Amino acid sequence: MRKLLLSVAGITALVCLVPACKKNASTDATQEISQTTLDKIYQLGFSNKNVSLDEEGNYIVEGDILLTAKDLTATPDTRFLRVGTEEQYRTNNLVTGLPRTITVSLASQLPSSYAAALDEALSRYNAQGLRITFQRVSSGATISIVRGNGNYLASAGFPTNAGNPYGQVKVNSRAIGNQPQSTVATILAHEIGHCIGFRHTDYLDRSYSCGGQPVNEGASTVGAVYIPGTATGPDPNSWMLACIGSGQNRPFNNNDKTALDFLYK
Ligand SMILES: [Zn+2]
Repeated sequence: MRKLLLSVAGITALVCLVPACKKNASTDATQEISQTTLDKIYQLGFSNKNVSLDEEGNYIVEGDILLTAKDLTATPDTRFLRVGTEEQYRTNNLVTGLPRTITVSLASQLPSSYAAALDEALSRYNAQGLRITFQRVSSGATISIVRGNGNYLASAGFPTNAGNPYGQVKVNSRAIGNQPQSTVATILAHEIGHCIGFRHTDYLDRSYSCGGQPVNEGASTVGAVYIPGTATGPDPNSWMLACIGSGQNRPFNNNDKTALDFLYK
């Protein structure tokens, strides 16, 4: 199955459909990034493999997470939630000032079909009865979904130290290509998940969703909060897995709902 999100091999293959794309752009970008920077990325708990630069010179790690130079020197309030035995949810600052309505807009440069996909993504969140709710607006949004053209399929960042959501999601619709509404909704819900603080659930082993060799996504961690009473078996379809296959749909599974409730209900 073709991997859509975040698999760098997939990104290279897809993005090289774009005429201006350089061969092995991701690999070349990694070589241009200093070891000191790669060490900082790792110390923040992210994979420092296949790091690339976006069109504005920000670092893209784990396929779709945007880190600025300033982020590399920050000390985010990171939490670890263990749900069941297979999945661990990590966060990177959280949205505060709850209850709160977060407005989201969609740039007109994106395909018009994305509007229904965004509505589906927002309704997935709103159906959880959380203390954050989402509302689509035409302008002046807290989170703007815009068209991206870099060497990635989508990108987003994490909440600010002040407890505000990350303000911009870039979606490279040309690289994503023609996908069903549920897949686009899953991608948008995933990126919004980053904006409110969720990291990848399979950070310890990206081969879980991305295939290939296991890649430890960052520095080892201690202090995870185990949420009792949650499923103990594998639950492999989290919306925050690092990679998604073409045509896949990942509405919130029970562990996702547990994690969302724990943080935002
Ligand atoms: Zn992601």
